[in-house]
Amino acid sequence: MNLVNKGTAYWQELDRQHHWHPFTDTQALNAKGARVITRSKGVYLWDSEGNRILDGMAGLWCVNLGYGRRELVDAATQQMLELPYYNNFFQTTTVPSTELAAAIAQVTPAGLDRVFFANSGSEAIDTAIRMVRTFWAVEGKPSKTWIISRKNSYHGSTIGGTSVGGQGAQRAQGGPILPDVALVDQPFWYGEGDGMTPEEFGLERARQIEDKILELGADKVAAVFGEPIQGAGGVIIPPSTYWPEVMRICRKYDVLLMADEVICGFGRTGNWFGSQTFGMEPDLMTMAKGLSSGYLPISAVAVGRRVGDSLIAKAGEFCHGFTYSGHPAAAAVALRNIEILKAEGIIDRVREDIGPYFQERLATLSGHPLVGKVEGMGLIAGISLVDSKSPKKFFEAPGKVGQICRDHCFNNGLVMRAVGARMVLAPPLVITRGEVDELVALAGKALDLTARDLG
Ligand code: PLP
Repeated sequence: MNLVNKGTAYWQELDRQHHWHPFTDTQALNAKGARVITRSKGVYLWDSEGNRILDGMAGLWCVNLGYGRRELVDAATQQMLELPYYNNFFQTTTVPSTELAAAIAQVTPAGLDRVFFANSGSEAIDTAIRMVRTFWAVEGKPSKTWIISRKNSYHGSTIGGTSVGGQGAQRAQGGPILPDVALVDQPFWYGEGDGMTPEEFGLERARQIEDKILELGADKVAAVFGEPIQGAGGVIIPPSTYWPEVMRICRKYDVLLMADEVICGFGRTGNWFGSQTFGMEPDLMTMAKGLSSGYLPISAVAVGRRVGDSLIAKAGEFCHGFTYSGHPAAAAVALRNIEILKAEGIIDRVREDIGPYFQERLATLSGHPLVGKVEGMGLIAGISLVDSKSPKKFFEAPGKVGQICRDHCFNNGLVMRAVGARMVLAPPLVITRGEVDELVALAGKALDLTARDLG
């Protein structure tokens, strides 16, 4: 290995020797070597071999403003020169973290106007778990500790995130996970709703939550946690009846609703938050990713008055926080990110123009022999690949099919992720119509190549 002339082989070898990748089969990765991503602009990435790739996933669902936004870089630089770090513990604050809290409170649904900062979606979820359980304790109902969540949901990788998440393989490792978490079935109509209309199915899945509350006892249940659209589970878009019924049930049994907006937040579904798209009125919301367009790590929990007022009045000190909660540089970037989303009308454009265009163009893939269903909203979509369209038959080895398709995408210049045999997309919100056309053409090509490989 030539250690002086740095290049792909050099970085791949260093990577093999020292870098342990998240959610990665290291042996499989080492056999071929990691693709080294070196540059970016707009919706495009380049690798160390000079290949251009259209990023249909906005990184990990986070680069909402696209790559190369100078304003975000300037916001970080200026803040780092002025005050690179100070914390919000011990009765101090910083200007960007205070202003960001107010900016978030302005765009969240009414009442969610207190903001607690963390650094990742997982930390926000852990924070929310501790908040809801502490809330019930100070309300004199310490037995209300159970959290109900959905199978196949994803809420992060900390022990808390893993525990309230519904990813079986993840929950199986590193246990025991947290007690007092119950999972119910997900609202995935195309996959699991045969024999019912989407509306009936949405109600049936919501009522599983009611059944679970009754089984555990309402006096034991603290909260329901849910992503408005399950992202990492394969972009599971619930039927329109689902969330209103979940809300009715939560209210009936006095159970809190915690919306995990880590993916849906900041414009992905055509509104600031997925909660607004689905008419949810959560008591708390977690957010991360699009909050800073991924330029620096930052996350938050927005807390409604009921929980916030009670905790502040009755809990005294909330013994929780992170060294980098509300980090000034990350907060300055997030603040600028929100200003740009507003100033450029980006979220309205997702709702009224580019989102519908993206969905319309993607729907043209429905005719492909491998495609069972294309489902989406705003700039997020899931495409179910099937062995047979009619009668509907899913693949016996969905992971293998998805991986073949994902690899063809990647080798032909498109990032499209595979969750089993469901291909998922969430491009930067600034994608143009021409880039959408290119994305759909590349996806179509990958589907053709996948069909060819499957014979
Ligand atoms: N919640 C949701 C809905 C997510 O999609 C993710 C990450 O993908 C998380 C939580 C965890 O976020 P992080 O990876 O920043 O810890």
